[in-house]
Amino acid sequence: REPWPRPGRCRIMTIANQKGGVGKTTTAVNLAASLSQHGNRVLVVDLDPQGNASTALDVDHHVGRESVYNSLVEDRPLSEIVTEVEGMPGLYCAPATIDLAGAEIELVPLVARESRLSRAIESLDVSNLDYVLIDCPPSLGLLTLNALVAAEEVLIPIQCEYYALEGLEQLLRTVELVRAHLNANLRISTILLTMYDGRTRLATQVAEDVRSHFGDVVLQTIIPRSVRVSEAPSYGQSVITYDPASTGAVAYAEAARELAHRAITA
Ligand code: ADP
Ligand code: MG
Repeated sequence: REPWPRPGRCRIMTIANQKGGVGKTTTAVNLAASLSQHGNRVLVVDLDPQGNASTALDVDHHVGRESVYNSLVEDRPLSEIVTEVEGMPGLYCAPATIDLAGAEIELVPLVARESRLSRAIESLDVSNLDYVLIDCPPSLGLLTLNALVAAEEVLIPIQCEYYALEGLEQLLRTVELVRAHLNANLRISTILLTMYDGRTRLATQVAEDVRSHFGDVVLQTIIPRSVRVSEAPSYGQSVITYDPASTGAVAYAEAARELAHRAITA
C-alpha cells in the first residue's frame, strides 16, 4: 500500500459528540485502521465505559483487566495498558473496561481531575506515534473533558439527519470553555459527515448546512450508510479489514487519506 505522509509530530485528536450513535467509535476505529495500513502509527484510546472501540479492535476488555480506568484514577502508566492490535501492525489500543463508568465520579475529588488523561498521554513516548485518536463517551462529563484537555484537535462526526445540529452548540461551547481555561491549543480541526443516505433530501440538506456553517473544516469525503460498517465490529474488525471493497470501507479509507494529507494549520 502507498505510504501516506506522517505528521511531523504526533497529532492528538479527540473524537467527540455528546450524542450517542453518531459514528464516533466507528470513525475512531476505521480512521485508525486505515492510517495504520498506510504506514502511520496510531493509538486508539477507548474512553467510553462501553468499550465499543476495544470490542471492534478485538482487544480484551473484560472486567479485571487493566484499562484506561487504572491510568486515569490510579496513575498506572498508560504504556502498561496499551496493547498492539492483532494482525494490524502499527495499530495500538488502550482499552476501556466498564470500571470507567465509575471514573466520572471517582475523578471528582482528585487533583487536576481534568488533566489526568493529558498527563497519562504525556507519560507515553508519543515520538513513536503519529496519531492518538481518543474515542469519547456520549456525554460532556469529566471523561470527555479529559479528552478535550489532552488533545490539540477535535474531530466531530455528524450524522446526516434532522436533529444533527441540535446539541452541537453545547459541544462547541464546551470546546470554547476548555480553550479559554484549560487548553489554549485546542481547536475543531475536522468534521466528518457520517451515515449519509443520499436518497433522502434531508441528508443532502443537512450536509449542505454543515458545510456552509463550518466550511473547510468539513472533510470532502462523506461516509455513506452501509450495512458492512455495522457488521464489522461483531467480527472484532474494522470495516477496512472486514470488507475493504465495501462502500463504507472505501469512504473511511478516503477520509483517512484526506486527514493524513491535510496540513496542520493553526
Ligand atoms: P457512537 O460511538 O457515536 O455512539 P457508533 O460508531 O457506535 O456511534 O455507531 C452507532 C451504530 O451505528 C453502531 O451500531 C455502528 O455500527 C452503526 N454505524 C456507524 N456508522 C455506520 C455507517 N456508516 N453505516 C451503517 N451503520 C453505521
Ligand atoms: Mg461510541
